[in-house]
Amino acid sequence: MPGVSRTGTIVVGVVGQQLGLISVGTPTDGMQDLFYANPLPMLVVERQGLRVLAANKSAERAYGVPGGLTGWSAAQLWKESQRPDLEGLLAEAAAVRHRSGPWTHLDETGNTHDVGIYCSELTYEGVDALLLVVADLTDDLARERALVEGASKDTLTGVANSAYFLDRLRQMVGRATHEPDYRFTVLYLDLDRFRDVNERLGHIAADKILAEVGARLTAALRPGEFVARVGGDEFGVLSDAQASGNGPLRLAERMMQALSEPFGTQPPISLSASIGVVVGGGEPVIQTDAIIRNADAAMHRAKQQGRARYELFDESLHQRAVDYARTEAELRLGLKQNEFALYYQPIVTIAGGGMHGAEALLRWVKPQEGVLAPGAFISVAEESGLIVPLGDWVIHDACRQMREWRDEGLSEISVSVNVSARQFRDGDVVATLKGALQDTGIEARLLTAELTESVVMEDPVASIEIMTEISALGIGLAMDDFGTGYSSLSYLKRFNFDSLKIDRSFIDGIDRSAGDASIVAAVIALAHSFKSRAVGEGVETPEQLQYLRLLRCDMAQGFYFSRPVPADDFAGIMRRGTPWSGLS
Ligand code: C2E
Ligand code: MG
Ligand code: MG
Repeated sequence: MPGVSRTGTIVVGVVGQQLGLISVGTPTDGMQDLFYANPLPMLVVERQGLRVLAANKSAERAYGVPGGLTGWSAAQLWKESQRPDLEGLLAEAAAVRHRSGPWTHLDETGNTHDVGIYCSELTYEGVDALLLVVADLTDDLARERALVEGASKDTLTGVANSAYFLDRLRQMVGRATHEPDYRFTVLYLDLDRFRDVNERLGHIAADKILAEVGARLTAALRPGEFVARVGGDEFGVLSDAQASGNGPLRLAERMMQALSEPFGTQPPISLSASIGVVVGGGEPVIQTDAIIRNADAAMHRAKQQGRARYELFDESLHQRAVDYARTEAELRLGLKQNEFALYYQPIVTIAGGGMHGAEALLRWVKPQEGVLAPGAFISVAEESGLIVPLGDWVIHDACRQMREWRDEGLSEISVSVNVSARQFRDGDVVATLKGALQDTGIEARLLTAELTESVVMEDPVASIEIMTEISALGIGLAMDDFGTGYSSLSYLKRFNFDSLKIDRSFIDGIDRSAGDASIVAAVIALAHSFKSRAVGEGVETPEQLQYLRLLRCDMAQGFYFSRPVPADDFAGIMRRGTPWSGLS
């Protein structure tokens, strides 16, 4: 039995600070030495009453009673004020073979030590006893405290780090579980357009600004509040002092105020933050991860509402967060279970009326709900990053489909696929395109990648690089939804698009509004000046088509010709021959 000697002699050893039984049986002198000559103070005390049965030299020295400890009560060794319930602690420590304490102990010179006792049970000369090893923990505890402090600090800004933030938040949630009236406030603060700052000033200057943000937020704190850096340019504030009435919003205002003065870089720059505010506690208690999601959702709404503001998490956001979580989970599953399909919509050459090609449009064919258009799920796919594998599937499946049509002897047409911002930024879209072409043996010139203005303008320089690689493969490039974002003309020239797709919102009013008609005319002229082709999107009526023809638009796409249809139906359209000939 560990820790219990059936003989009357102590046969324990101390390994590091773990107490272990070395052997049970006839003791040797060497083992006796382990006890008597051990540098750590050791005592054997009666289990009942804690009377000292044996003590080693070090213990006698430590307690200043050479040769005389036997017969004392262990309780006498620590002054009442310096120890908690010794008996209880020792019993507990003996039960789990663990340390009790630490508690403070004054030595004879008046110095304070933190001591702990390692304790295990044994039988000493037939008596149930405890072996106590007294360890001075002063240095260990100091080291531990320094470690905890170091591990909870963000090295760049000196404020708490996200691990510590989470820890404190969990404590608050824990407290709310026991105290129905307890409320606390969580702020989630994201600096606006910090990526630009990083790019413009470089990382070193940007880091300095982050450190200053940390310092300013800290200076704005009041008792009961604390700030942590929880991400690159994200800070979290927790408060259990501000959780009633307007408190939470005042706190957010105070944090915004703290950032309002320009930052002292050369040249000075102004910063703002978008803040999500959540009040925690009450019934039912929202758990830590949900609180963080909610604060993040509120922060995103603040961004959407124009930045430099705060938003309180409310019911509508809650519903959105729930919907988002559900859609993300379902998307993940749908991807695994192959629930996606591509529909195809013809792109028609206005002059000849022939089919130029098709746009592949993603559909989610859900077993229960039927066919969903991208509007219902693409933003969740983007935000969650699932668009990267999904978009890769789209590219591969479009090429596979082209190959199938070719093998069936249908005339070759070009197919456009939509590529999203996230795929462009996070995925390796060039490798995916290349791989899909290689796997299927489809010629690059038959494939076109459609990018929206916002995709390319998000990071024009990086975009040009990727687009150049795509062009070099021989794949076409189309700018989608043109007119809805903002493009700088100087960039537009460098982008080298093969076609510009004029957004449906302009085509819609082309035959009724002089404004729309002149925008469309200007875009067509612009496209031609870049040697690109203009494509009118969303053509629904013969009048709209007539206008586009007058304005010398090259191609058109819309319900007037065909809605997006499943691949088999599209093959049917190809077999019948295009019904739009004679348009010119
Ligand atoms: P988009 O690329 O601009 O695609 C054209 C959208 O306009 C399609 O909507 C199409 O059904 C619709 N449309 C075409 N002609 C007409 C018309 O005459 N009238 C009206 N009212 N609408 C018309 P859909 O299929 O719902 O797709 C919406 C958007 O979702 C697409 O806009 C595209 O941005 C995105 N999307 C579609 N498939 C994918 C994909 O595979 N990957 C990515 N990342 N995005 C996709
Ligand atoms: Mg498109
Ligand atoms: Mg479009």
